[in-house]
Amino acid sequence: MQLNPHYAELNESYLFSTIAHKVADYQKAHPEADVIRLGIGDVTLPLAASVTEAMHKAVEEQGHKGTFHGYIPSEQGYEFLRDAIRRYYAGHGVELDMSEIFISDGAKSDLGNLLDLFSQDNTILVPDPVYPVYVDDNVMAGRKILYLPATAENGFLPMPDEAPHADIVYICSPNNPTGATYSVEQLKAWVAWAKANDAVILFDAAYECFVSEPGLARSIFEVEGAKEVAIEVCSFSKIAGFTGTRCGYTVVPQALAGGKLNKMWLRRQTTKFNGVAYVVQRGAEAVFTDEGMKEIQQNLDYYRANAAVIAAALDEAGVWYCGGKNSPYIWLRCPNEMGSWEFFDWLLEHAHVVGTPGEGFGPCGKGYFRLTAFGDAERTKEAAARIKAALATL
Ligand code: PLP
Repeated sequence: MQLNPHYAELNESYLFSTIAHKVADYQKAHPEADVIRLGIGDVTLPLAASVTEAMHKAVEEQGHKGTFHGYIPSEQGYEFLRDAIRRYYAGHGVELDMSEIFISDGAKSDLGNLLDLFSQDNTILVPDPVYPVYVDDNVMAGRKILYLPATAENGFLPMPDEAPHADIVYICSPNNPTGATYSVEQLKAWVAWAKANDAVILFDAAYECFVSEPGLARSIFEVEGAKEVAIEVCSFSKIAGFTGTRCGYTVVPQALAGGKLNKMWLRRQTTKFNGVAYVVQRGAEAVFTDEGMKEIQQNLDYYRANAAVIAAALDEAGVWYCGGKNSPYIWLRCPNEMGSWEFFDWLLEHAHVVGTPGEGFGPCGKGYFRLTAFGDAERTKEAAARIKAALATL
């Protein structure tokens, strides 16, 4: 028996466990400190009433012989949910075929599992900083990874004219952690690059629901010809608070690689996956009803208001930041040229607020810091006031 040697190449300390240890140590030393966590990207509002009602109904169905659902007829997902997603995309001008939509238990699983379809010899291009999972998935598989710096100079939106040749590129827009969001115009250049390089774009649209400014893309498929070069991964976690309920979806177009990737993904899913729970799929379907959408927009507005509160505090303190408009994340430059871990410790000490050091998302995150708007509104106000007061002492 031989172990996969590439696991030894993974970065030892996982960002969020390092943060958890630091906070636990601080709380032990200062039990009186009321620490507010604006660090991890989990949501705080509960599922919408339409979603829980649909799930209750589905649970009841599962308890009766006449309405019980066993193995899912298609591992690809129930038609009722795939059709709801198809209509959601049509609402922003993207026509999908039902065969192109695959339901999953979340974006994280699909982002890892999709790599089954590609040879180990492919070179991977990953923006820096970005959601760390893309890098770790490929380190585990032993693939060569190239990095594409996202900096203040390029607006945290690297363009293909700065890109080396690669076979697979990850694009996360709106971006975690920077909040930077590509326009449809900018994505046209990436689609052209992918065609010229015979490459595939893995487009992570987990935060598409936060896009609110005109001209910005919610889906890579808003770009003509993108179906020939892109796979899109999305999630119910951020739009509808499914972080603990688990549901997502992936679009693998028929036009991509002459339909081969769609066929291979179907084969992969039918072999290694038995689908998402009926009850969960019914809950996800309810997200797209008129009532569900209304409730969900209220939740998104709640988080947007949190982002505005944090942004106002930073404005008043004269700290540079971006994000928070089309994204739940605020990405700030650490004041006084502090390093991002140094600022983490400083903020914990002086404001009792926890955020995420930028360099946890890649070397280009050095000197930056992420705050999340997914917290409780009152606690976010309190955190913003404390951050402002602490910054005033610098
Ligand atoms: N993609 C990005 C960019 C994320 O930030 C996250 C979670 O924070 C995910 C995917 C994971 O989504 P899911 O909960 O659907 O697995």
